[in-house]
Amino acid sequence: MYIKQIGSILLSLLLLTCSKTISPLIQLKNDNKIGSNKRKVLIVGWDGVRTDALAVADTKNLFSLTKEATYSWNVDRGPYTVSVPGWSTLLHGVWPNKHGLTENAFAGNRYVDYPDIFSLAKEIQPHLITANISNWNQFLDITQQENISIEVDSDYQLTQQTLMLLNSQTPDISVLHFNDPDFNGHETGFSPDNPNYIKAIQKSDLYLKSLMDIVKYREANFDEEWMVVVTTDHGGCEGHHDQQEDKKETRFIWYVIRTPNQTPLNLTTEKTNLVDILPTVFDWLTIPVKKEWGLDGVLLKRKV
Ligand SMILES: [Zn+2]
Repeated sequence: MYIKQIGSILLSLLLLTCSKTISPLIQLKNDNKIGSNKRKVLIVGWDGVRTDALAVADTKNLFSLTKEATYSWNVDRGPYTVSVPGWSTLLHGVWPNKHGLTENAFAGNRYVDYPDIFSLAKEIQPHLITANISNWNQFLDITQQENISIEVDSDYQLTQQTLMLLNSQTPDISVLHFNDPDFNGHETGFSPDNPNYIKAIQKSDLYLKSLMDIVKYREANFDEEWMVVVTTDHGGCEGHHDQQEDKKETRFIWYVIRTPNQTPLNLTTEKTNLVDILPTVFDWLTIPVKKEWGLDGVLLKRKV
């Protein structure tokens, strides 16, 4: 059963990119520990995916998650519309005025005062095993307390590494960063009318299918429950996205936060923010949010 299932997932991945050769990856950190939590979190970041492009792309795997998810297509990601500030806002749960980052560099960061998701989670639940995987080395510097850190050389390799990791060490919190949509946006334009950009988004969606196959397999066979968060850090206009906080297409983004069998909750008409994801993840992990952490977000739930 196990071999058959993994075999079919790897085969579908292979068919996606049959011409691709596998390059070496860099394992920056791995203490070989195995995650033991029943409740897991998988954060899947798609860099630079504009909301209106997502709407026209064939992203059926992402949309199928909304049947059991909290989601919004209208999310404020805050000012300083580049990647390091955006991913820092998500993964530290505070706006740039607290984490201190306004460009794609780390000088002046206040990560000591506003630690990352892994550090905060381990303060309450030290047993948690955490992982961060990306092909962009700066992304790997946004978190500090990961047990496993892997630098890959492509989104394909990222998916392949993650599939293996989820079935071996099965971290309790994993953070993934997919780069192809942003790369294509810079090369050929962030636009719903650009077929190259749309194709890159669709490919990310196929990788998501492989990841969800493993998640569902784990849920069916290992008594695990997975929260899967898919989101982005900014959109873009005319081939870039910096200094575009006044542009809706760049600043207002989306998220889908899936947990097994939950009633769908569409928050698109309400004001929600990128910083709200972290308290929502912690609620899932039964981690109480401490006041002194100074988090800026709120738990995403139905308003009563
Ligand atoms: Zn970005």
